[in-house]
Amino acid sequence: MVDLRDRDALEQIFASTKFDAVIHFAGMKAVGESVQKPLLYYNNNLIGTITLLEVMAAHGCKKLVFSSSATVYGWPKEVPCTEEFPLSAANPYGRTKLTIEEICRDVQHADPDWKIILLRYFNPVGAHPSGYIGEDPRGIPNNLMPFIQQVAVGRRPALTVFGTDYNTVDGTGVRDYIHVVDLADGHIAALLKLEEANIGCVVYNLGTGKGTSVLEMVRAFEQASGKQIPLVKAGRRPGDAEIVYASTKKAERELKWKAKYGIDEMCRDQWNWASQNPYGYGSPDSSD
Ligand code: UDP
Repeated sequence: MVDLRDRDALEQIFASTKFDAVIHFAGMKAVGESVQKPLLYYNNNLIGTITLLEVMAAHGCKKLVFSSSATVYGWPKEVPCTEEFPLSAANPYGRTKLTIEEICRDVQHADPDWKIILLRYFNPVGAHPSGYIGEDPRGIPNNLMPFIQQVAVGRRPALTVFGTDYNTVDGTGVRDYIHVVDLADGHIAALLKLEEANIGCVVYNLGTGKGTSVLEMVRAFEQASGKQIPLVKAGRRPGDAEIVYASTKKAERELKWKAKYGIDEMCRDQWNWASQNPYGYGSPDSSD
């Protein structure tokens, strides 16, 4: 494992192996932390990516799949979000994703040998069906599903529901949750696409195209786990959008990829991972 900003270490890796393509997932991703520590985010995410692109180019590896995010749609005026929607950043984390997208477009424009696919993830959740690989955030989880999971295994007393007065089916925020296995398949489809001619720098949404509210997700998780998730209703979380879900047409058409799993499978696999690993990769003592 190397830090992408460590040019010498990266050089060594690219000198030792000839890579066909790179999937670039490396980056910091906590919105709140990015507001507190913007320079940390700009330094890690932007300098890491620029160094990677430079070293790739120097070694003649010019095929890239980059993990972007639906956060670049900001607060969408309408749904579903298509790839052509106007882009904006609501926080430093989002600004790093948006800036990296723009850097990639510029790099490819300057040197048409590059082929770059930007994948805009919606809300990845769930775990590998084996139960061996799952998400294990440090500290208090920011995201809904890891939080629900920690309530279900008894690590936290209740889920705080941020906002019950949205203009949605039950007043809670709506998102497009996508199973991590579907997300992984989307990357395989992108790698295959990179083999085609004249890709340029192109962007695809990776979502299911379906919106699910916080309460719908809680109910699905209760069903899958047999556990009750106590709720505390609270005000809106600053910066949160009301409804975000993807248009999946472009990915279906051009990547021949479509999500297979719904929220029941997401909750089933998340619970399988959680119940076998209630403290993630750590132990009760090492975890908070
Ligand atoms: N949410 C919530 N309680 C939590 C975490 C999230 O009610 O402890 C809500 C949040 O307001 C949003 C949805 O769950 O409506 C998804 O939040 P998450 O942070 O997972 O994704 P994002 O908002 O970044 O799309």
